[in-house]
Amino acid sequence: MTLLSAAQRQIQAERARELIPGLQDRGVRQLAITFVNHAGLPLVKAVPLARLPRVAAEGVGFSPVADAFGATGAIDPAQSLARPDGDLRLVPDLDSLALLDGEAGWGWLAADRHQQNGEPYAADQRLFCRDRRQALEAAGLEIRIGGEIEWVLLGDDLPAGGPYGADRLLDGLDYLGALAAALDAADLPWLQLHPEYGPAQFELSLAAAGPLAAADRLVLARLLIQRVSRRFGWRASFSPLVAADRVGNGGHVHLSLRRGGEPLLSGGAGVAGLTAEGEGLVAVLLESLPALLALACPLVVSYRRLQPSHWAAPFQVWGVENREAALRLIPGGPGEAAHLEFKIADAAANPYLLLGALMALAADDLARPRPLPAPLTGDPVGQGAPRLPSDLPAAITAFAAHPLLSRVMGPLLHRTVIEAREAEVRRCSGLSDGALIASTRLWPPSERQVEG
Ligand code: GLU
Ligand code: MG
Repeated sequence: MTLLSAAQRQIQAERARELIPGLQDRGVRQLAITFVNHAGLPLVKAVPLARLPRVAAEGVGFSPVADAFGATGAIDPAQSLARPDGDLRLVPDLDSLALLDGEAGWGWLAADRHQQNGEPYAADQRLFCRDRRQALEAAGLEIRIGGEIEWVLLGDDLPAGGPYGADRLLDGLDYLGALAAALDAADLPWLQLHPEYGPAQFELSLAAAGPLAAADRLVLARLLIQRVSRRFGWRASFSPLVAADRVGNGGHVHLSLRRGGEPLLSGGAGVAGLTAEGEGLVAVLLESLPALLALACPLVVSYRRLQPSHWAAPFQVWGVENREAALRLIPGGPGEAAHLEFKIADAAANPYLLLGALMALAADDLARPRPLPAPLTGDPVGQGAPRLPSDLPAAITAFAAHPLLSRVMGPLLHRTVIEAREAEVRRCSGLSDGALIASTRLWPPSERQVEG
């Protein structure tokens, strides 16, 4: 992790000054600067455009208590970060700059958090992601990440129509058109946008990118979805499960790796064309799935989504093109590289923490032989497949005991993420199934939910 030195601050300020005229031409008058806290909530400070050079150099203040804000915004006082003291600097990454809403005069930036003396903040999620990318590159590997986002619209007179229905597309044609326009205006490359299976559920897939850009784009895409949904009088919920009898919202992550330009997931002599290192990657991820769940599925309600036979893939298995396998190898085809879909993740996951952890595992010694079980075909139900942790406490236990994740995250990040998950367990203890689902039906939460 890098210290924010005086020289770096000056470079940042100069770059920011150069960016201002172009931003003014695009109608930007103010900037939203976000990070994503341990609970997966994007938090924000906004500044006038004219302040960008100063903010790019010095950052803007943000209290470390922000990582103790829970899934509904409330703070559980039992966490060590639930304290009034101290402050951090939220330092925007100018490479992430994008248009949030040109008509309303808003630009957007992702940020890292530093201490006031410029040192990196050891519990910052985006710095962790950055660090793991660097370590992966140092190990000679290149990773590309594509993200999927599913959401459900809440409100009145919603676009109606069947699962994947063209009728629903037509009913929501203006909405999806406005969303596509917002993505294009933000220069956010997307691959697919369409109705999903559940009522008023939609899905967006983003083009593959480097890990930091991929995580940033997942955050920005969600903001754009919320913004456009609101303009149409609806609210977009990324809750893992909005109603007991429905399919959930996934946040699947697609990853592919190369060494020296050569793909690891295709062109090899292993099963389904995997190279030896590709097999190592699938094996290490498979082995670590229980621990990863605490990052990929961070809410108690996340585990209500992970039902068998709901395409949420709650078994510790991998498969080739198998939608019920937690790790689904997609061998690729014309114009598409082979990639691995990490299917269990939901849309409440903090993408920086999740991608950082996936990279840490990928940088592990992939050549080390690990037994890779045969890929599973068909529905794992009734095939004796091992079930993944079926609740958050079990996932926390697996995460806390994972030596590699605890080492690479460092004590502060590792401990405070565990505390945040434990707070989520306490928040939900004693809630009936209905009350649990209702408590995060709209997620990120509304004020009403926070107050109630
Ligand atoms: N909605 C499903 C989930 O909870 C995923 C559906 C799909 O395969 O895209 O993850
Ligand atoms: Mg989907």
